[in-house]
Amino acid sequence: MRQLLLDAAKRSIRYRESIGDRRVAPPADALEQLARLREPLPEQPSDPLKVLELLDQVGSPATVAITGGRYFGFVNGSSMPVAVASNWLTTAWGQNACLRIMSPSAAALEDVALQWVMQILRLPPTSGGAFVTGTSMASFASLAAARHAVLEAAGWDVENDGLFGAPPITVVIGAEAHSTLIRVLGQVGFGRARVVTVPVDRQGRMRADAFPKIKAPAIVCIQAGNVNTGAFDPAAEICARAHDGGAWVHVDGAFGLWAAAAPSRAHHLEGFELADSWATDAHKWVNVPYDCGIAVVRNAAALRAAMSVGAAYLPTGDEREPLHYTPDAGRRARAIDVWATLKTLGRSGMADLVERTCRHAARMAEALADAGYEILNEVVINQVLVAFGDEETTRRVIAGIQADGTCWCGGTVWQGRTAMRISVSSYATTAEDVERSVDAILRVAASVGRGSSGTKQHGPRQL
Ligand SMILES: *Cc1c(COP(=O)(O)O)cnc(C)c1O
Repeated sequence: MRQLLLDAAKRSIRYRESIGDRRVAPPADALEQLARLREPLPEQPSDPLKVLELLDQVGSPATVAITGGRYFGFVNGSSMPVAVASNWLTTAWGQNACLRIMSPSAAALEDVALQWVMQILRLPPTSGGAFVTGTSMASFASLAAARHAVLEAAGWDVENDGLFGAPPITVVIGAEAHSTLIRVLGQVGFGRARVVTVPVDRQGRMRADAFPKIKAPAIVCIQAGNVNTGAFDPAAEICARAHDGGAWVHVDGAFGLWAAAAPSRAHHLEGFELADSWATDAHKWVNVPYDCGIAVVRNAAALRAAMSVGAAYLPTGDEREPLHYTPDAGRRARAIDVWATLKTLGRSGMADLVERTCRHAARMAEALADAGYEILNEVVINQVLVAFGDEETTRRVIAGIQADGTCWCGGTVWQGRTAMRISVSSYATTAEDVERSVDAILRVAASVGRGSSGTKQHGPRQL
């Protein structure tokens, strides 16, 4: 065992230390090697050291360098070294973070991490909370709690009697709600399409002046940090109107909520503290390893009512049992990675991480604008949208950048315009990474502009 775990540590360290020297997207030959893994289920055992060697030799080169400093795709965070280390140790512990008696350590650290998260995000300290796999499941848990509360107020017991025949719930979302939130609406029985959609402005913000008259039972979903522009819905106004109508307000704040950690950005969160539930990620801007999301619900009893289970062998005490607040039962102790990260960074370190990544995003936007390219959004946090000309040109520049390998950016269509999306979410991004990436982007854009073969290099065109 010792040799195996040391070998894993050595390989991991080598991987992370060399991440800045390699192409961000894996080269074509690394992808071809993956074919070696497609074999029939082995009949006989193998030497675990050989298994790990194969994993590293074939698997590592075909990864995307998300943990490095020049990956700007989607909104994917890196992972802080301390969180990787805590993840290793807690994986070795092998705890089931389901019940306090299964792991006193995991339960205690989860309590602390949850309190710290609520403090940093300025959410009510008596809220209930759950550590889940990501914002999708955090919204799932939150909206199940919302469903419980708004139907209980209407005299309906949704956990026992289901949604068939229940008083209909009005569900309001913005036209720019995240795709995964739409999926959750289907999962909790509200329907993906059975919603009232509020129009948005040029940044994707819900238009408060277009907010409909609603009456209970109702649930309103707002957003802190649009996945394209980074924009924030006008929370104070929407919460006031929604609460006037007796609605529950849920916030999808996968990354945007963490702007609260940075003094220069915290004003974007004004009014979001008035909501009733909040879903966020730790695996994006907080830079803990996948997978880690957090649900915070003002009415802890509603979350518990929606999630709790009963069995004769379960403990009955006053202490918080994670099991009763999450949609799952057996689960890893993911809260510990959040604890380790916040313990290491402190309030000021978390502020610095947010400030720094926002500054890098602003610098990239400035450099691309100076070169004559069009920035399509107000760069309010860490997200930049840039167009290099018409749709075809922008597409070719994105493919060219991905093939070039210096950095990685994805594409999107923003309000009818094809754009490249830059998200600076990694603790590892340095000013030098930013300049190197800007140089590469400008070089590729210039070669595409000249009509040369910017996209015809080796490597995958799309990932
Ligand atoms: C990433 C994201 C999600 C989904 O989060 P997961 O952790 O991938 O489930 C939801 N909403 C927004 C705004 C996001 O950026």
